[in-house]
Amino acid sequence: MNIWLAFSVRKKPRDRVVTVKGSETLSIELKQLALQQGFSAVGIAPAVTPVGYHHLLEWLDRGYHADMQWMEQRREAREHPRSMLPGTCSLIVAAMNYHEGTEPAAGPRVSRYAWGTSDYHTLLKTRLAPVAEVLRQRLPSAKTRIVVDSAPLLERDFGRMAGLGWYGKNTMLINRRIGSWFFLGTILTDAQLHFDAPEEHQYCGTCTRCLDACPTQAFPEPGVLDAGRCISYLTIEQRRAAIPHELRSGIGEWIFGCDVCQDVCPWNRFAPTHAPEEFHPRRALHPVDGRALLRMTAEEFSGLFRATPLARTGYAAVRRNVALALGNLRDVSAEPELLQTLSDEAAIVRSAAAWALCQLATTAGFAAVRQQLNRERDVSAQDDMRLSLLAAGACVPERPCDGASSPPVASDDGNRGAATSAAHVPDE
Ligand code: SF4
Ligand code: SF4
Repeated sequence: MNIWLAFSVRKKPRDRVVTVKGSETLSIELKQLALQQGFSAVGIAPAVTPVGYHHLLEWLDRGYHADMQWMEQRREAREHPRSMLPGTCSLIVAAMNYHEGTEPAAGPRVSRYAWGTSDYHTLLKTRLAPVAEVLRQRLPSAKTRIVVDSAPLLERDFGRMAGLGWYGKNTMLINRRIGSWFFLGTILTDAQLHFDAPEEHQYCGTCTRCLDACPTQAFPEPGVLDAGRCISYLTIEQRRAAIPHELRSGIGEWIFGCDVCQDVCPWNRFAPTHAPEEFHPRRALHPVDGRALLRMTAEEFSGLFRATPLARTGYAAVRRNVALALGNLRDVSAEPELLQTLSDEAAIVRSAAAWALCQLATTAGFAAVRQQLNRERDVSAQDDMRLSLLAAGACVPERPCDGASSPPVASDDGNRGAATSAAHVPDE
């Protein structure tokens, strides 16, 4: 035995496993309890390195995670669930439906999962807590940890291993009975429970509807998502930068997330439409009043969307998205708000408003964008506005900084106004 191996063997503690007599009976009891808590499907998977981990590494190496550096940084932690709870050997995975039957309203749209009145992380954790509690009552030495979407756990892989569904070509976990409109919550435990059979089959067949319908061609191949092209990533995760010009039209009316590849999936046609009341649409999002969102102050935004997924994306990025959606909808009634938004504090919002006004293509809109370009101090916003005018076939001021009271400055990533260090001096 070489020295390194001997050392590593001594250093690595053996996982503590709580063995359970009658684990099958206890497993059934826990699953029934989860169903009583409002979950639509529950299964139990073994704690192993999931097959999807190797796909994840390849996906990261291909750069399909765009600038989600946190995925890159926590890649090792995703290899095995014991990184979240030492000794984990069983995972209780539960699916909660969030589609409650309401059809989307016309106008700017938010992905269904974010329509509700409370944060799904909190709700699922609250509903799983009694299940974990019963497990600890039955096995006082057992440890548990509840994970909902915020820890480095490949939840969908364990959902598949727990028999809850298969990976569709749209990368979603799909269940034959409940479709794909569900959240996953997981209880990790060091108790040895009875495992369910994994879903080994993929029921997509020759269907390619999701791949064909994606507005931004975000699937380089079936089952592989290029996040950098996906509307969900662009409108939710890309919070500081402007959305690339070539993807803006594809974003359509979406201001937060995108449901297209789930809307078209035949397995969702007959999916159940009952969900906890907390997932029923809040008034502010059904319908979405894009004009009101542009008029809203940061304080009003926080008050309205506190404890919802929109809060994390933030005031500037959501309003950037709203401006783009209003441009795509060619909503001329929103011109006053877009004109006002041209002088927003955030460069990404000013650029998006300018792009939207160029889509509306009114004389007043073009004039206002040119005027803003003349006084714009953020270099990236200047370039963005120039491109918007050019793409719309409008004339572009030759000397963009004529009349500006101060020189342009480097872009500040867009979430605030001008940066403090001048990085570009205009040609005179
Ligand atoms: S969420 Fe929308 S943009 Fe993203 S892959 Fe699905 S259809 Fe394409
Ligand atoms: S739309 Fe078709 S190909 Fe895509 S996930 Fe659904 S069944 Fe599979």
